[in-house]
Amino acid sequence: MQLRLPIHVTDVQKYKRCPKMFAAEVEKRYRQPEGHLSHLGVLVHSVIAEYLRWCRANGQQTDYDRLPVILNDKHRESGMAPETWDEAYEICDTFARSHLVPQGHVMIEGTIKVDREGRLVHDDSPLGWLEGTPDFVDYERDDRVTIVDWKSGYASEPDWFQLETYAWLVAETISMTARPAEYELVYDYVRWNVVKSKIVTADDLPRIEKRLRRITDLMEKDTEWKATPGTGCSFCTEECSVEVRPYVCRIEDEAVEMARALILAEKEKKRIEGYLKPYIAEHGNVTVNGIEVGYKRSGDLVWPDVDTFKRACLDAGVNPVEYLKVDTRQVNKELRDNGELPGWLVAIGESGATLRFGTRKAKGG
Ligand code: SF4
Repeated sequence: MQLRLPIHVTDVQKYKRCPKMFAAEVEKRYRQPEGHLSHLGVLVHSVIAEYLRWCRANGQQTDYDRLPVILNDKHRESGMAPETWDEAYEICDTFARSHLVPQGHVMIEGTIKVDREGRLVHDDSPLGWLEGTPDFVDYERDDRVTIVDWKSGYASEPDWFQLETYAWLVAETISMTARPAEYELVYDYVRWNVVKSKIVTADDLPRIEKRLRRITDLMEKDTEWKATPGTGCSFCTEECSVEVRPYVCRIEDEAVEMARALILAEKEKKRIEGYLKPYIAEHGNVTVNGIEVGYKRSGDLVWPDVDTFKRACLDAGVNPVEYLKVDTRQVNKELRDNGELPGWLVAIGESGATLRFGTRKAKGG
């Protein structure tokens, strides 16, 4: 298999997961599951990008009314089934209502291409060696660039390699003397309005480059494209003789059966807990095969009295503000009372929501 240049950052990520799967994909033996969610992801990305461009072109921080117009056009172009419109709208509307569109220096779905020395080259340059397309880059702050990847699916396990590599590429788009000290990497799970972020500094970039070059060196010299079994096997459709390949269900009937089994297992768990708790309350926790079952203390000291806390800090010569967090209860109350948050709160807010896999009551169920 002949590796074609420029290498895309997502190719490096795939190779890192399994060279055999990557080679199979290049040779079109392996195909990413082309299900509903991947088509929806393309649609959602294009709508969000267009929405941001529209708002910026019109000097607006939001324009909720424009969103359905953009979605109508993009949905028609996509050729997707009419019922996908609602799902896409819900995701994009959640995004629009939780993000104010920045008016400063940003890049929306722009491709960055560099040569072998890591120098920026023009999009159609034959010297292009590596390229990447971050969904959104905010250059507005002098001390920090924010690089965002929108995810529209259900899962939320971040693989930081992609965004770290984008940080290295983005640094190349800024003149050496103006490069910021920090790069904020953000996975924005737009379906859930959940954000996972971390910061890498300019000092981390050489480490990121070194790791990237180690993998691309392997890619460029590879002739065997060996299988490296791992978590990617669950989704891989390549013919492969790896023995321990975790089973995943791929069809709806089976998924429904598994969900049903999970609900029953949770009910059974509650039932057994009910039997066990009185015994444990009297005799203490039970250990089986090195696993302790029973009560476990969690949580730390709390200081509910803010005035006492502030006074103690000031007496000790410590700035209390450094220890304080915003109490979101008041903010959420405002949201409940008024239907939506005022713009100035949205502008400074970050999504603190988290995702948990499990069972819950269905809407309207
Ligand atoms: S099944 Fe696993 S090891 Fe085999 S090609 Fe796919 S990802 Fe690689």
